Amino acid sequence: MRTLVDSHVHLHEYGEGWTRYCSGDYILLAVSDDTSSSVKTVELSKKCEFVIAAVGVHPWNVGQIDINSILDSIEELVIKHDVLFLGEVGLDKAFHPETFELQIKVFEGFLKIARDYGLGLSVHAAGAWRDTLNLLKKYKVRAAVFHWYTGPLELVDEIVSEGYFIGINPALLIQKKHGLVLERTPIEFILTESDGPYNYRGLTLGPELLEALLKRISEVKSMELEKVSEQVSKNFQKLVSLVTH
Ligand SMILES: [Zn+2]
Repeated sequence: MRTLVDSHVHLHEYGEGWTRYCSGDYILLAVSDDTSSSVKTVELSKKCEFVIAAVGVHPWNVGQIDINSILDSIEELVIKHDVLFLGEVGLDKAFHPETFELQIKVFEGFLKIARDYGLGLSVHAAGAWRDTLNLLKKYKVRAAVFHWYTGPLELVDEIVSEGYFIGINPALLIQKKHGLVLERTPIEFILTESDGPYNYRGLTLGPELLEALLKRISEVKSMELEKVSEQVSKNFQKLVSLVTH
């Protein structure tokens, strides 16, 4: 049985049902949306050896927060629990352009924390792919995944040349643009993800779809399923090693 990599899942949203993913069939990078879900995600990671916690505030939520106190509480969690990743953090000009200036302030706050503690990032960058990449470079972030990348295809080349990864989501099964992103991205820079339990155009995303996702990746890349699976696992180990060494 292969281990499926979920590099971006909102595990805290599954209630008690989250335990079905703590089986060894999956390795999960569990992201958070705000302070309380960050606390919850850290708790889940302590209960399950296959869960790695990422803490932070989703760019959709920055309008409702007191920046300084939130950054302090996230930093405190990082220190107290040896957290290795921040996520879901980033910028969104596509769905929430009205808070963009504030999003930049918050994201820069997270980037400083990432720099100070050598953390990796799971980034949301809808409509702000270039801005996000520029900031990751500015703060010399050592490890990052561009979650559910649907940005400009030519930017993929620059992202991977920085050593950052591209998150490929089961939306691939129905989203044409995502397929083009997959074609463009070298297999060594691909990470699978579910973004569960989000619902995308009637498709309920979740770790159960990772097997079908791998299969589709193997078709697009004309590679054996087993080889794709091995490479994605290797990529995930690399991501984690970048923040633990
Ligand atoms: Zn997400």
